[in-house]
Amino acid sequence: MPEGQCAGIVGGGIGGLTAAIALRKAGWDVTVYERAPEFTEVGAAVVLFPNALAALDEIGVGEQVRSKSLPYSSGAIRNLRGQSLVTRRIGDLAGGRDLVTIHRADLIDALVRAIPAECLRTGVRVTSVGVDGGIVTDGDTARYDLVVAADGVHSVVRQQIWPGEGTVVHTGVSAWRWIIDGPPPDFVGQVWGIRGEFGILPLVGDRTYAFAGAQRGVDSLEHFADWPEPVSQLVVNADPARIIVNELLEIRTPKLLTRGKVALIGDAAHAMRPHLGLGAALAIEDAVTLAAYAHDLAGYTKARRRRVLTVQWISRHMSTVVMPESRPLAAVRDVAVRLTPDILALSVFGVINRWRPRPIETR
Ligand SMILES: Cc1cc2nc3c(=O)[nH]c(=O)nc-3n(C[C@H](O)[C@H](O)[C@H](O)COP(=O)(O)OP(=O)(O)OC[C@H]3O[C@@H](n4cnc5c(N)ncnc54)[C@H](O)[C@@H]3O)c2cc1C
Repeated sequence: MPEGQCAGIVGGGIGGLTAAIALRKAGWDVTVYERAPEFTEVGAAVVLFPNALAALDEIGVGEQVRSKSLPYSSGAIRNLRGQSLVTRRIGDLAGGRDLVTIHRADLIDALVRAIPAECLRTGVRVTSVGVDGGIVTDGDTARYDLVVAADGVHSVVRQQIWPGEGTVVHTGVSAWRWIIDGPPPDFVGQVWGIRGEFGILPLVGDRTYAFAGAQRGVDSLEHFADWPEPVSQLVVNADPARIIVNELLEIRTPKLLTRGKVALIGDAAHAMRPHLGLGAALAIEDAVTLAAYAHDLAGYTKARRRRVLTVQWISRHMSTVVMPESRPLAAVRDVAVRLTPDILALSVFGVINRWRPRPIETR
């Protein structure tokens, strides 16, 4: 590759910022366009599995991220009667170590700090791109050797360059997420109930991340108000001003993840249900893989498509496992999960979390 290759990155979320660091490691000049006035992430917190941390290690920010994270390996999974559904802890299922929780703002901050300020343009909305590498913003135009579409589930780049593909699917599933000032209660992990799931995770700085998900038709946190402690207490005490509510959306991933000089990464390519907690992790994997294949974009699609479709498929089907529609189905779920040999659970989660990045050639 000749020297002086330039990449324009549309979107400065977890995927776009990771791509900036990874491409710089591969010798590219980068410009990140972010429409928000500053790099912030309002989505509460995130779990990072070993695959995500390995990718962050590849680009030299793993330790920085770990220093702002707390281990989550001891998380448990219970049902509504307080019974443990799996004998192993979540960390064991995920490969034993390097499973952490981090406030999203801390993750974004760690990524931004690894990118020179002159590469970052905030308050700039990209209005269109071309397969020839052109980027048009509200104020100017520029031409790049590579355009990275990291502009999230409603990606304007995907809509423009992949017309008729990448449909947004409304799942009807609602999610509530919020941060609580104060350490977590005694129980840390997830409660899998009927038509809903609830998670309680520790964060650095004596904070707690709480999240709830519920099937179509459940439109209020009230659904969880009579769940066993500590869930009901957290719901009753939740500050409505701090709660982020979304409907979960999926993207039907396009057949090719690149067209001309444009490559899709992260939620723009494959937004998925968060039951495995891997959406951001896959955005990070995409970004680091793209940098390794930046000179061979067809190789990027080959390296990524099957993996993202597999994780998306499992995440979709996890919805019925973690929040079945009725009490009898929940009873069947409880028995089935408890009878599932650890070895099977370990192999499913192991395959997902054992992913390791292709090394980026530093130029
Ligand atoms: C309830 C919930 C819980 C989750 N929990 C986890 C978890 O525990 N672990 C995990 O790995 N994942 C989790 N995820 C998934 C994760 O949040 C996403 O997969 C991840 O944030 C996607 O990152 P991204 O950079 O691709 O997109 P985004 O975070 O959406 O970033 C896109 C960026 O592009 C910018 N942008 C958009 N359009 C333009 C434009 N035209 N011009 C300039 N800028 C633009 C936006 O402002 C934004 O900053 C969860 C998701 C949900 C909904």
